Amino acid sequence: MSEKKTECARGISSQSEKPLFGWYEPQYLRDICEARGGTGQLFLYYSVLAGLKPALDEWVPTDRLDRYLKVCEKYGLLTEIESVFYNETSDEVRDSIGGEFLTTTVACGAPAGSGYSGRAHIYVSKSEEALDRIKRTGWYPISINRRIVTKPQIDYMWFGEHLGYPKCCIDYFSRVNNHSLYPNTLMLPFKNTKSKPNYLCNSLVKDAYCYLYHIPCGFDCCATAELSAELRDFIQKHDRGYADYIDRHMKLNFIVFRERDIYAFDGVPEGNVLRYNISAFVDNYLYPGELLGVFANNDTLVIHEDKILAMSEGKITNTIYKTERAEWFFISFADDNTI
Ligand SMILES: [Zn+2]
Repeated sequence: MSEKKTECARGISSQSEKPLFGWYEPQYLRDICEARGGTGQLFLYYSVLAGLKPALDEWVPTDRLDRYLKVCEKYGLLTEIESVFYNETSDEVRDSIGGEFLTTTVACGAPAGSGYSGRAHIYVSKSEEALDRIKRTGWYPISINRRIVTKPQIDYMWFGEHLGYPKCCIDYFSRVNNHSLYPNTLMLPFKNTKSKPNYLCNSLVKDAYCYLYHIPCGFDCCATAELSAELRDFIQKHDRGYADYIDRHMKLNFIVFRERDIYAFDGVPEGNVLRYNISAFVDNYLYPGELLGVFANNDTLVIHEDKILAMSEGKITNTIYKTERAEWFFISFADDNTI
């Protein structure tokens, strides 16, 4: 590992260093980002182009669709529009019988080409076979006459396979993942982590800058680490700055309350003490990041089994306790020299 990257991981930010969780100016595949409207899934396109991932699924506003499909064609990527999502705030769907089993995305759906405006759900792949396979299993639970028809477990497992997730992670999550039973489902891979967390298995930044989009069976999963390392090599060949920026995000420290309710910190922990300069809320898609102000006004965390002390200039200002509804955990990838 180079000197420079060690500095990045420690969060020693110079004036010229780019702030974390900012906009990265892509040096490659820039037109895909422009057409889809952001860099959020950029690493997944690399993964498909590298042949590491058989297919990805994407959501593109219908008014961008023509441009997006043309850009995909330019890179030899085949596309298939599964359906158009509209009225994504529909309570009618969520209030259906069985609605409590639905995931975060709820929408009315219309066939492609039916003229509805909204977001097109699209499969993208380099091969016709992979595209055909994924569209057979990539369907969402549907509400018919206000009753939810759930997807069979095997379709979830095959979908994971067609997206290129490692078998150990698919099997593990098929057995244990249950959003209605566990408020913090990420606790499961955390408890299943038997050795030092490997930053190449850090899925906590998967909606920002990351090498993986699945939740690994553990934050030390070998199959995940191998896949991420191959993708990292491939990205480095095309856009070194992008790979470096991803590395910085994956080598942070995190307090995880639940999926999409995650805080990130720079710095390297010493024992149970983390001194940090930067704190960030990883993703504000579902939750507002209500502790962001608390962390921004402090500079040190002391992590205990049942509580976190937030401190500023040596004084405790806040204490965050573990409760049944907020069974958080702390994990650090900061001093990982895996690569
Ligand atoms: Zn695994």
